[in-house]
Amino acid sequence: MQIWVFAEETDGAPTSLALEMLTKARSLGDDIVAFLVGPGSAEALGALGAHGASTVYHLDPGDALPSAGAAAAMAELAGSENPDLILFGLQPTDRDVAGRLAARMGLPVLSNAVDIVIDAGSTSVINEILGGATLVETTFSGSKPHFVVVRPKSFTAEPGDGGDPIVVPVMAPGIGHAGSATVIESHAEESEGPKLEEAEVIVSGGRGMGSQEQFGAVEELAGLLSAAIGATRAVVDAGWVPYSFQVGQTGKTVKPSVYFALGISGAMQHLVGMKDSGTIIAVNKDEEAPIFGVADLGIVGDVHKVVPRLIEALRSRN
Ligand SMILES: Cc1cc2nc3c(=O)[nH]c(=O)nc-3n(C[C@H](O)[C@H](O)[C@H](O)COP(=O)(O)OP(=O)(O)OC[C@H]3O[C@@H](n4cnc5c(N)ncnc54)[C@H](O)[C@@H]3O)c2cc1C
Repeated sequence: MQIWVFAEETDGAPTSLALEMLTKARSLGDDIVAFLVGPGSAEALGALGAHGASTVYHLDPGDALPSAGAAAAMAELAGSENPDLILFGLQPTDRDVAGRLAARMGLPVLSNAVDIVIDAGSTSVINEILGGATLVETTFSGSKPHFVVVRPKSFTAEPGDGGDPIVVPVMAPGIGHAGSATVIESHAEESEGPKLEEAEVIVSGGRGMGSQEQFGAVEELAGLLSAAIGATRAVVDAGWVPYSFQVGQTGKTVKPSVYFALGISGAMQHLVGMKDSGTIIAVNKDEEAPIFGVADLGIVGDVHKVVPRLIEALRSRN
């Protein structure tokens, strides 16, 4: 079975989601191909090979907005190479390419997958609904390739024993006006400490922290634990922290070893982004708060009493 994985290169490396999908693809098929969009650094190509890609189709879009050209090039190649399955990540460029490619080839996309199962040659996708309380399995019928968009952190990225891949340079075919948009400038949001998606420990705060000033206790605790800071949408909407801190359905999906939920109710839209964390520690003054339904350790209490004591205990230990 031939499986392609779409990979975007940023800062000299494929996205971590591309490596997660390659790891899963290895367990599903025997012919794994990456379609890399970006400059094609040795580091990026090496990482794709190490995670299972034996071949990398490489498209360097230069300063062109990559999606239209990538979709056109993939459609041409898929027409001649006949892959069975193409995986994209639930992230902006991947989704843009998946949509354009599906429209070009007149084939459907199954999105938001948390797992993929191949049984007797047919491909099924598992989705979570109702905040993960129910799993839905959907099976493709009809022509291949099948397109799947995968949620971050559904699989753990692990290098295999793959070596350097065969690299095949690809040119974007003429796509007229669709290819005329160029990237003039890009802005990277400045941040300190570990990245939310990759952090081993996350300290997240919700509206129950009280105010932007009082949210400082979340930041202080995170600093003492060398943790990343997370937040609910309520906190982001209130302007206490930027959107890049938001965990949940319309924010980031995270899977740290330890997740602190401080003054967070545990709305379904928050839970879908963090419920697969290793150990969840929740502090909430309402013992009926839904967050306690997923917590491994729950403290029913006031964050303004519990969090300062945690901070004090950690300070005295350091
Ligand atoms: C389409 C859609 C997408 C969404 N996407 C997201 C998303 O990605 N991420 C997300 O987080 N939300 C998302 N939401 C919003 C979500 O539904 C909730 O409104 C939000 O998560 C609530 O945030 P919260 O827990 O901080 O606030 P609240 O629900 O107001 O909860 C505050 C909690 O703090 C507790 N509390 C109050 N004071 C204290 C105290 N002193 N000590 C201890 N506990 C205290 C309260 O008991 C309460 O449980 C989305 C909603 C929609 C409709």
